[in-house]
Amino acid sequence: MSKGRPSGDLRPATKLVVGGRRPEWTNGVVNAPVIHASTILFDSVAALREAETHPDRGLYYGRRGTPTQWSLAEALTDLEPGAEATLLYPSGVAAISTALLSVLKPGDELLMVDSTYAPTRFICDGLLKSIGVTTRYYDPSLGAADVAALFGDRTCALFLESPGSLTFEVQDVPGLCAAARAAGVVTLLDNTWATPLLFPAIGHGVDLTILAATKYIVGHSDVMLGSVTATAARMPALRRMTTQLGHSVAPDDAYLAARGLRTLGVRLKAHGENGLIVARWLADQPQVAKVLHPALPDCPGHALFARDFAGASGLFTILLDPAIDDAGRVRFVDTLELFGIGFSWGGFESLALPIDPESIRTARPWAGAGLGVRLHIGLEDPADLIADLGRALAAI
Ligand SMILES: *Cc1c(COP(=O)(O)O)cnc(C)c1O
Repeated sequence: MSKGRPSGDLRPATKLVVGGRRPEWTNGVVNAPVIHASTILFDSVAALREAETHPDRGLYYGRRGTPTQWSLAEALTDLEPGAEATLLYPSGVAAISTALLSVLKPGDELLMVDSTYAPTRFICDGLLKSIGVTTRYYDPSLGAADVAALFGDRTCALFLESPGSLTFEVQDVPGLCAAARAAGVVTLLDNTWATPLLFPAIGHGVDLTILAATKYIVGHSDVMLGSVTATAARMPALRRMTTQLGHSVAPDDAYLAARGLRTLGVRLKAHGENGLIVARWLADQPQVAKVLHPALPDCPGHALFARDFAGASGLFTILLDPAIDDAGRVRFVDTLELFGIGFSWGGFESLALPIDPESIRTARPWAGAGLGVRLHIGLEDPADLIADLGRALAAI
């Protein structure tokens, strides 16, 4: 027998455990099971017609999901006080493009942070441009007044990513969102680095918050998945666009993401703690010119990080001594034994990736001290990771 939903105002760690586990969805087991479905069978035409009137709940047709997907979506919504609902997507990029299409139409202008994830730029410079939406990139260090000064007659949306991809600048998300709301501009945030556990975005004034669930939510490097959690005002348009684009998430993938979500709290804590131990050690090494980690006091936006975030996750960048060339950087990454070389991050394992932000930025040229390597710190013992990094730095 299972009890009903717990009552009262629960803390995030508890919400991770109980979220989305409605008895009518779990049917007596702990996790909502994997339910594969395209056709849903109804008892009568009357029952089919009745289901039609509830487009956002109940079994209707496979594309609208089954309890497997609903359970994950509800658990994600529970982590964002003030949010109305969450929709799931086959990847983080699908979540970003659909969220943008739900708020922009031909003739509109989008303000996009210059430190955004590169494929987000491809959406702006490709898909959005082709339908007549113009994108203006803005410097991630701009405060609320400076960003508000950029708002024009056609500005309809402001996109934030904090900390930024590759370079980890922290934005004044509450300040920028308040300025946008006052001007009638819709705000979207890529919150993949922090997850709602370290930064509940809707409560900080964001209208639509996006996760590449592929990263920390899944947490095991074996599923592609995205989510958008939004306010009541933004949900109807988001639902419409999602339905028309036909997005649907496999129940097996939703199941693995829900399973990952249950341990997000303990995993993130370990990623964050291990990451800081390694980052502080790296900052003292002669081959390292700078560590770009928002929890370090000399990182751009550190004061905002300290004000707004409940902690750090495990992803940051090191800039090598300017005397080290690309061959030296390649030798460093190739020599590492515990750090895999590959895209994505957020799994249990450590990764290293050479990065070149100067080739991407357009609002303000990137002026990093030396060549960059992005590190994801996994759940290994940080002493082993430090020994590995020490060996690889010596090999340069
Ligand atoms: C990986 C990533 C995405 C895209 O997610 P996919 O699931 O790989 O499509 C979006 N934003 C950020 C910040 C990411 O790191």
